[in-house]
Amino acid sequence: MAEANFKPIKKTSVEKMEVKPNLDLEESYKDFDWESLYKQLDWLPGGGLNKAHEAIDRHANGDKRDKIAMIWEGKNGEREDYTFGDMQRLTNKFANILQSLGIQKGDRVFIFMDRLPELYIAFFGALKAGAVVGPLFSAFGPEPVRDRMQDSGAKVLVTQPDLRRKIAEIIPELFDLQHILIVNKDSRDPAPIDPQDLSYHEEMDKASEDFTTVVTGQYDYSIMHYTSGTTGKPKGAVHRHQAVVQQMATGRWALDLHDDDIYWCTADPGWVTGTSYGMLAPWTNGVTQLIYEGGFSASRWYEQIQKHKVTVWYTAPTAIRMLMKAGEEVPTRFDLSSLRYMCSVGEPLNPEAVVWGDDVFGMPFHDNWWQTETGAIMCANYPSMEVRPGSMGKPIPGVQLAIVDEDFNEVPDGEDGNLVVKPGWPSMFHGYWNNAEMYNSRFRKGWYITGDTARKDSDGYFWFVGRADDVINTAGHLVGPFEVESALIEHPAVAEAGVIGKPDEIAMEIVKAFVSLKDGYEESTKLRNEIMRFAREKLSTAIAPREIDFIPSLPKTRSGKIMRRLLKARELGLPEGDTSTLEDD
Ligand code: ATP
Ligand code: MG
Repeated sequence: MAEANFKPIKKTSVEKMEVKPNLDLEESYKDFDWESLYKQLDWLPGGGLNKAHEAIDRHANGDKRDKIAMIWEGKNGEREDYTFGDMQRLTNKFANILQSLGIQKGDRVFIFMDRLPELYIAFFGALKAGAVVGPLFSAFGPEPVRDRMQDSGAKVLVTQPDLRRKIAEIIPELFDLQHILIVNKDSRDPAPIDPQDLSYHEEMDKASEDFTTVVTGQYDYSIMHYTSGTTGKPKGAVHRHQAVVQQMATGRWALDLHDDDIYWCTADPGWVTGTSYGMLAPWTNGVTQLIYEGGFSASRWYEQIQKHKVTVWYTAPTAIRMLMKAGEEVPTRFDLSSLRYMCSVGEPLNPEAVVWGDDVFGMPFHDNWWQTETGAIMCANYPSMEVRPGSMGKPIPGVQLAIVDEDFNEVPDGEDGNLVVKPGWPSMFHGYWNNAEMYNSRFRKGWYITGDTARKDSDGYFWFVGRADDVINTAGHLVGPFEVESALIEHPAVAEAGVIGKPDEIAMEIVKAFVSLKDGYEESTKLRNEIMRFAREKLSTAIAPREIDFIPSLPKTRSGKIMRRLLKARELGLPEGDTSTLEDD
């Protein structure tokens, strides 16, 4: 097994910040129930629950009123700070705008914007108005926007001038759309606003700062997110206000958020990590967070950590692999001593990357596992336990995960099977929009089927094997692509690897790998053979790749996930299926 090469890492935040980890895991499993956590929420008068109230108003009404909620750094180096009090005032104004436009509880309000402060204001303002918010990733082209806006029947679109122009051709096809609000941040765009649209800034100037949050209940819908589209057409997962309790709790447990932290989540709000953990987890815990509008570059990212003294950092495997690719010299140019805790989600985190974190930053990346559908972290390497590189950790208290066979019987420890969850966790999605059939198909015999395969070791750690669709059957062995990819990227020349099963008459499938090389390495038959040999030594001959192709970069979703189904379709000359979330080359 690839992970056997890596020793567990024991490090806690106590060493760095003299704080106790928020969760003593073993203790917390005993007699756990969510009731005590629901009691820690503020609630609305009369027993209502609203995410915006829990994230913003409860602090603005209390002693954190003047605490900074959001440090915003723009792509041109601009800086703006917003306290919880500011956020309350501005989100109230936005909620008033929506109400004056006739938006009512349950109406969908979609936001198609870059990471500007106004995105966050519109998001929470819409929740206050009782709307269901749908954030769309700003790199989308017209079609993905049309599909999602049509599917959801959104009545309002909040966007910015350049993005409005990008999707102009599909606007007439949005039959439910009633209003477009344009945010022209700092008058960045010289063109006048289309007369049929509304200016966010003009409306905000007119709107009152007083607003009483629409009373939503814990079961009312709050946010909808389309999934990443890694395995097929994206599905609109709908979440309820009560998800906030798990987002708050996991912010403490898995991200180890403490009052004095400066937290940075690099995910865009167009994806679930960017709202559950780039909005709700830090703010329900009253923690200051950095929002960085700019895109990825290793030095820019390190600069953000240095400049804003980031203490807790939540990012993704693709980004970590890109940082690794940029080399170990780059971080030495920055003072990163503020960092005390680092986490990762979105894809399996190769053990190599966990250990790299430990070497370069003096602390490992803590991997955690969840999905758009689960709404919040379900399984994590916590600060209070040793990190096993390559493992996604242990379930959070109050969540039951299991590994089952095709008949939904639990398999023995150490065996691969389907990863399932006992339904009823607080942040569970409550539907795929307009697709009840698909939603129902995800629940069987008392379990929610995640679509992932994994195994559990005898100490209760979970290890990701692969997407159920990606598992390879070669000469009677079931092989998870992650294990093979992780072995490949241990080779010094390999930056990234994607592994598929290629149909074969004799073996049923053979393992085929696509690798991209680190800067400074040249493709050659010699290098290919060397990587092949290296993989055979790391893995067994049975599961090492039989074929390796070099490619400049792997096809990925815009949220940074390797699209193995595309590698396979291209290899076999088959149709590519839904590519609406495919990243540009
Ligand atoms: P789609 O459902 O549209 O195919 P997707 O499953 O990639 O896309 P998300 O909900 O964004 O959409 O991603 C959740 C999936 O990402 C998980 O089911 C799992 O396959 C993968 N994943 C997330 N975190 C981890 C992790 N820590 N380790 C391994 N896999 C992970
Ligand atoms: Mg999925």
